[in-house]
Amino acid sequence: MPYGYHGKILHVNLTTGSLTVEEPDEVFYRTYMGGSAMGLYYLLKNSPPGTEPLAPENTLALMDSVLTGLPIAGQSRMCATARSPLTGMVGDSQCGGFWPAELKFSGFDGIVIWGRAEQPVYLWVHDGQAELRDAAHLWGRVTHDVQRALEDELGDRRIQVLGIGPAGENGVRFAAMMNMSNRANGRTGMGAVMGSKNLKAIAVRGRQRPEVFDGEALKALAKWGAENTEDVMGGMTRLGTTGLIRTQQGRGGLPGYNYDSGVFDDFEGLSGQTMCDTILKGNDTCYACTVRCKRVVENEEGPYKLDPAYGGPEYESLSMLGSYCGISDLKAVAYANQLCNMYGMDTMSCGATIAWAMDCYAHGIITKADTGGLALNYGDGEVLTRLVEMIARREGFGDVLAEGSARAARRFGPAAEDLLITVKGSEMPAHMPQVKRSLALIYAVNPFGADHMSSEHDGSYTEYNARIAELGLFDPQPARVLNAEKVRYAFYTQCTYSMLDTLDLCQFVWGPDWQLFSLSQLVEFVRAVTGWPVTVFELQKLGERRLNMLRAFNAREGFGRDQDTIPKKLTKPLKGGSSDGLFVTVEEVERAKDIYYGMAGWDVATGMPVRAKLEELGIGWVAGELETACAVPEAASDD
Ligand code: SF4
Repeated sequence: MPYGYHGKILHVNLTTGSLTVEEPDEVFYRTYMGGSAMGLYYLLKNSPPGTEPLAPENTLALMDSVLTGLPIAGQSRMCATARSPLTGMVGDSQCGGFWPAELKFSGFDGIVIWGRAEQPVYLWVHDGQAELRDAAHLWGRVTHDVQRALEDELGDRRIQVLGIGPAGENGVRFAAMMNMSNRANGRTGMGAVMGSKNLKAIAVRGRQRPEVFDGEALKALAKWGAENTEDVMGGMTRLGTTGLIRTQQGRGGLPGYNYDSGVFDDFEGLSGQTMCDTILKGNDTCYACTVRCKRVVENEEGPYKLDPAYGGPEYESLSMLGSYCGISDLKAVAYANQLCNMYGMDTMSCGATIAWAMDCYAHGIITKADTGGLALNYGDGEVLTRLVEMIARREGFGDVLAEGSARAARRFGPAAEDLLITVKGSEMPAHMPQVKRSLALIYAVNPFGADHMSSEHDGSYTEYNARIAELGLFDPQPARVLNAEKVRYAFYTQCTYSMLDTLDLCQFVWGPDWQLFSLSQLVEFVRAVTGWPVTVFELQKLGERRLNMLRAFNAREGFGRDQDTIPKKLTKPLKGGSSDGLFVTVEEVERAKDIYYGMAGWDVATGMPVRAKLEELGIGWVAGELETACAVPEAASDD
């Protein structure tokens, strides 16, 4: 009997309208466990090399894990995987909320979507059943309207809806899939993929809960988590991630004015405390989570009316829609965040793209002749919110920005490209590699573009740390160095975070350091649920397996070491604050890449996974997939 999972994957062919159920065996589940690795399995198998991101043949996989839907904090997450319309490389994005748990209760571990419907449809999945229904009446509507309409239509307020807004329908390259109207699979444009398939929404509901191997052990772990939430995670409960505004400002790591500076003079306007004192209505949570870190804001007056249904901005949104753009008006930034949630767009790429346009405007590269008369001045909240709407609707200059900053920059030439803060065409997060140097490496090599949730940050390794030592890391290094030991730290913790995205776990709750539960407790969790006698070693290998699959997809599509770069702007000295004058050099990143590829067992010259490594990870078949498109090195070269 399977423990923790149903053993059922729903396959949806939108071109033919057929729905089928696959029942993979236990070896499959133990090899991939869920989330990102399972999604990559289907993407690699089902989409031939060269499949365009918005073509019907692009496979969109939505995967829970063997741990999703259990009564313990930090397990209700789902990973979306497809080829990304933003980067052209592998796309990968996680969401939280209640949808992931409800998908599990509906009787399936994941959904694999292929093809394109002739007319807009939605998918209704409930208690082991699934059907496609007409969605013509939902097309063009914003996310919360769709949620309400489906609750009425299906006669159940407890259904969970994952859907796209107008941005996904319009092919905005950083469109998000939204659930609860405020939880996003935000990064890498998964909403545009869903829109290209004419799939407006997926509603889920059910009462089917898989058996757990050792219920008492699970209960004991959940009890420990609940009892220790306040001690370990109290700050997250009170401020959520918004507490980072002050922290980052203090260390000179709060990006201001499109990464010109690591400080923002008006940071206090965006701080978590200011939010608490002004527009915060309360906390929200994900299924069964005791941390309750999510913000809900409200405002009934002035131009920026805030509807609590759309949640509230996190640190990344505050920074990228705020300090990146030189804007400290919290209500304007929260309203821009709300618009992104309504229309279904990634707040990070959206904010950074607007900040890049403002930078170009300040340099006279973009002018009013390009924008239809709009002055893109830093600090202008009205322009910010106007642009967000224009992007979602692909209206006027918004149509240019809807392509993402990297594609938009090509229209304006090399001077505009020099101002980009992107890796692989995806906009970079608000954690600055200048002050946390391992991020320069991880941002460069991460297969789906720069990501701040793909490794532990340098601060966790500046002194001996018993939890980090569980990974065999006990030689701390200063935050601003990128030596071999720091690369080892970055690679090991990248494998850990990769494993967390495969098990679909919240990285605030489960992780190698400051999180509520440690890695040892995660081992206990997986054992209690599945009955598999896993170890930290097996889980690290799971993360490494997923990392190799991501990398292999890119290699198959012709991408490798040459795309592992940092933006030119990182090599210019920062201005102001405690990080004044700091910069990253291309040479240090190239040196670190040599070490990193060597440690990963990849070909150093191309950054490509080699057959021997794939075999070692039990996924030799991936080398076969690669060989359909390119030559796979048998073993790593060292030059
Ligand atoms: S810590 Fe926050 S994001 Fe993570 S599961 Fe809990 S409520 Fe959701």
